[in-house]
Amino acid sequence: MNISKLKEVIEDQPKFRFKQIEQAIFRDFVSSWAEVTTLPANLRAILDEECSLEIKVEEFKSDDGSVKILLELEDGLKIESVMLSHRDGRHTICVSSQVGCPLGCLFCATGQNGYKRNLTRDEIVEQVLYFSRQLKAKNEQVSNIVFMGMGEPLLNYDNVIAAIRLMNSPEGMGLGARRFSISTAGIPKGIRQLAREGLEVNLALSLHAPTNELRGQLMPISKSYTLAQVMKSLEDYVSATNRRIMFEYMTIRGINDEPIHAKQLVKLLTGWLGFVNLINYNETDLFLPSTAERMTSFKSILEKGGLKVVQRYSFGKSIDAACGQLAGKKKKKD
Ligand code: SAH
Ligand code: SF4
Repeated sequence: MNISKLKEVIEDQPKFRFKQIEQAIFRDFVSSWAEVTTLPANLRAILDEECSLEIKVEEFKSDDGSVKILLELEDGLKIESVMLSHRDGRHTICVSSQVGCPLGCLFCATGQNGYKRNLTRDEIVEQVLYFSRQLKAKNEQVSNIVFMGMGEPLLNYDNVIAAIRLMNSPEGMGLGARRFSISTAGIPKGIRQLAREGLEVNLALSLHAPTNELRGQLMPISKSYTLAQVMKSLEDYVSATNRRIMFEYMTIRGINDEPIHAKQLVKLLTGWLGFVNLINYNETDLFLPSTAERMTSFKSILEKGGLKVVQRYSFGKSIDAACGQLAGKKKKKD
């Protein structure tokens, strides 16, 4: 898809044309200009030529109903997005914010495959449009959007916020701000900027370790920004927005899932406006996931310590739904 030239192409057209086009793309979720019969045929032909609505994807379906796509961008690079369909009829779209990721977390397939570039606003929105088009055919809609695909959203701050604003606006998809969640490895500047943005989106921190030392072994970014610096920026975020934080904690066998780590986590998070989202490591090649017993006992230490814990169901195992795993595999095979 390439709608970057849209304004230029319809410059000489009456104003209401733009509204018709916005309606067609973001509300009717058309896949081709031919469907937009409210536009004159000659304009449709020009749009076809200059602003393709075609979204090129390879689709992978999992047994549990989640769908993962590899989406090809205009320059041939590929990103991945996932739709997680819940039993209650909600659909969560997990989107990428960058091609690859510069932060190189050891447990993350995306991070291990290097970094290419930031996504544009439209490339971020395109991922949601793809699934919206599919859901429309079933008379269903996207419910939530999480920035948990490839990349670090706060390192592509302007385009991520512009994409959210477009999807949030009445002229765009009109999706409420609270339906969006940004997950970050911990970029203090971006966290503080988000606090001032005035957008009621949700914020998640990929914590994954209760101490700076252990975090440093898993996430190289914590050498640039210590855990204390990240937590301080979150404190500022909470006081500015009064919004709670989701702390993501992924358990890795023998690395961060011992009782001592659970106790340290209680100490770190006591008193915070927030909750822990406990997830198990989705195997790449360096580590092993925690056993079910270990996760249960880890969770119970957190709860006994007074923390609120949720356990995210691990979607799409059969299609490698964890971040970056599919694109990583493809790259190895090519
Ligand atoms: N860069 C951002 C957002 C993308 S990653 C961030 O790190 O928060 C989205 C989530 O997937 C993060 O919580 C990340 O830590 C987690 N993740 C990465 N690799 C994983 C793996 N192998 N198994 C389970 N979760 C993983
Ligand atoms: Fe980047 Fe997030 Fe993966 Fe770390 S976990 S490498 S920050 S995408």
